[in-house]
Amino acid sequence: MKILMVASECVPFAKTGGLADVVGALPKFIRDKSHDIRIIIPKYKKINDKKFRIKSITKLPIIMGEETWTADIKYTNLNSLQVFFVDNKHFFDREELYRTSEGDYPDNAERFIFFCKAVLELTKAVDFKPDIIHCNDWQTALIPAYLKTTYKYDSFFINTRSIFTIHNLAYQGLYPKEILPLTGIGWEEFTSDKIEYWDQINFIKAGLVYADVITTVSPTYSKEIQTTEEYGRGLEGVLASRAKDLYGIINGVDYEEWDPGKDKFIITNYNFKNFAEGKNKCKEDLLRNVELTFNKNVPVIGMISRLDPQKGLDILAEAIEEILSLDLKFVLLGKGDKVYQDLLEQIKKKYSDKASVNLNFDESLAHKIYAGIDVFLMPSHFEPCGLGQLISFKYGVLPIVYKTGGLADTVLDYNEKTGKGNGFLFTDYTASALVKTVKRTLEIYKNKKVWQKIVSDAIKTDFSWNKSADAYLDLYSKINKK
Ligand code: ADP
Repeated sequence: MKILMVASECVPFAKTGGLADVVGALPKFIRDKSHDIRIIIPKYKKINDKKFRIKSITKLPIIMGEETWTADIKYTNLNSLQVFFVDNKHFFDREELYRTSEGDYPDNAERFIFFCKAVLELTKAVDFKPDIIHCNDWQTALIPAYLKTTYKYDSFFINTRSIFTIHNLAYQGLYPKEILPLTGIGWEEFTSDKIEYWDQINFIKAGLVYADVITTVSPTYSKEIQTTEEYGRGLEGVLASRAKDLYGIINGVDYEEWDPGKDKFIITNYNFKNFAEGKNKCKEDLLRNVELTFNKNVPVIGMISRLDPQKGLDILAEAIEEILSLDLKFVLLGKGDKVYQDLLEQIKKKYSDKASVNLNFDESLAHKIYAGIDVFLMPSHFEPCGLGQLISFKYGVLPIVYKTGGLADTVLDYNEKTGKGNGFLFTDYTASALVKTVKRTLEIYKNKKVWQKIVSDAIKTDFSWNKSADAYLDLYSKINKK
């Protein structure tokens, strides 16, 4: 099959979260199963042309309302994967992808309308007739709508089918209806069963309504979003109405990137055979890097996260001082909402001997953290899949999570009686339940033998992409009309 993977981020080019990991990994597995898959993302300022040998290949006119913009189409081949980029300085030559700590870029609607239109025009320009266009999140959600409206009678796309993957329903792309003419989609589509949403345009809803098949990144999240407003964010009805076309496929981890046995960012490589020695060396190195003192008996808790209430920052803010009163070290790496950044700065000042707070996006430090910590904190209020907990397992780190979405599907609470489990779950979304679970974890940590047993089970859990890639391929085949 010919597949076009469309997204707004992709490892190793541009990343703000798990979406980039998925788009960087899944295509490699699809390619290895003998399919022609190509990726397309915007060309942001931070993507280095020289480093990735990115070249301009053509320029395309893109009409948006009264204006015509130019899409400068760029290309590279990265480890036998063909990657296209849509460039336009006005839209993408910015420091960030979508937002600064002050909020979203005000013209995000225009930026991604431009991107979606350019994607379809590009496929024609390079004569790549996809059987499947795999779209991800709201930034790409107009593409399924275009295939069923403005491009419906375009013979080039006659056999093209679309699949839309929800990575996070909290970001919908909700904009005033006045932008509809920029999309080129007619007002007849602006109805409550299509892209209208409380008199506004909802991009992600377009993906849900027009795509041939919908997926999300874990089975539990796929159920949650159909049932309550809290998870469905107002789209639970639309999702329930498409229940028979909605699938939950758990994300994998790219073990080429995330494996302490070959990780290039860490001081020493380790696997389960030399685990204790490797972990200690990495822990010492991490703590030296973040200016905390090392003691091999004191557990280190880490957190790598967008700083957003979704990620449990609200309960963490309430719980953090009590957590820091315990015998542990805490290393946080994250970027996001200003209120949390400010609060964490305060914590860093007050608990400088115990807490290290790193308010940036740092791939290298992220690897050092997974390698050097014992416990990963991921108290997300909702979590479509979550990658942090899956990466943690591979590094022999046990996660503390709230029982929701993909966390509920992948973390099994340690059971003292049966000795089974790979982490610690709490089921009340409160600061006190979080503190209680941290305390329970630290008690179990004290029993080295028990801890080692849980760790060695966790390290062996396999969350590689192979199985999930097959599940996506099954869906592609199901909707492929050729
Ligand atoms: P989400 O996509 O909702 O942010 P996921 O758990 O699915 O959450 O994926 C987060 C990914 O981003 C993980 O690979 C995590 O290690 C990484 N990450 C998050 N914040 C940072 C940061 N500040 N620096 C480096 N990596 C980060």
